[in-house]
Amino acid sequence: MRNCPYCNNSGSSYFDFFSRSYNQCVTCGLIYKESQASYEKTLTHYRENYFGRYYSVEVEGGRNKLFSHILDLIEENRGISSLLDVGTSCGFFLVAARERGWEAKGIEPSAQSVEVAQREFGLDVYNGTLQTYNGNGQFDIITFINVLDHSAEPWKEIRKASGLLKPGGLIYLRFPNGFLHTRVYRLASKFRLANLVHRFLVFHQYCFTPAYITKLLSDYGFSEIVILNSPTSEGDPQKPFYAPTLSKFIKKHLYLTAKFIEFIYSGKILLSSSLEAVAVKNAS
Ligand SMILES: [Zn+2]
Repeated sequence: MRNCPYCNNSGSSYFDFFSRSYNQCVTCGLIYKESQASYEKTLTHYRENYFGRYYSVEVEGGRNKLFSHILDLIEENRGISSLLDVGTSCGFFLVAARERGWEAKGIEPSAQSVEVAQREFGLDVYNGTLQTYNGNGQFDIITFINVLDHSAEPWKEIRKASGLLKPGGLIYLRFPNGFLHTRVYRLASKFRLANLVHRFLVFHQYCFTPAYITKLLSDYGFSEIVILNSPTSEGDPQKPFYAPTLSKFIKKHLYLTAKFIEFIYSGKILLSSSLEAVAVKNAS
């Protein structure tokens, strides 16, 4: 069995999802795939496939309310300033930020997406990756909206982001709730009900739990870490439900239930399908 790619300690088998096997590190708790795609292979996938799969959801406005929510959240913390969005796709989030007065830039590996961002919206989007982006200490906020759990080595992205943030700058992450998705799948599998739930669950390169994200951010020089339930997007790229209206209704009510439980348990139990984290870069 492959050792944990984060801390190199041993892992134990956690669950199998179709042809993929996932392990959990016994030391840091990271849930990771047994067979890891290489950095280059992962990048090639996002360069070539992402545009076709998600463009329609974004252009239909399925993430507009989510983007407004994220901007409200970071403005509460920092006001309106400078922002870098990693994996910005065609730049719909940047458009929403610019309309509010943000100085907003993006990074995106797909040349097709960057072309739309530049041609349709006149946005400042770098075609490449965070690792090849030049700069130092220039942004007040860096956002990763459903990006980090796809990365081959997310800790390298966090380290690079830290270097691009001003001291006291803010990082924002949104990712599938690894705690919820893995527990639901393991429980359903135990009762031979996995077929009923797998279409609602999301497992990428990694499954991030609140405990692991807190450790990762803390290890790379961030503090004041807050993790919350995140609202769901209204788009339905994986088509888990048969009717869009039903999808919207169910997702909204599951989120409201999760927020209620978050409130009752003072943020200690987070059961929304996606989570979001904000943290502050330490001064030195
Ligand atoms: Zn580990």
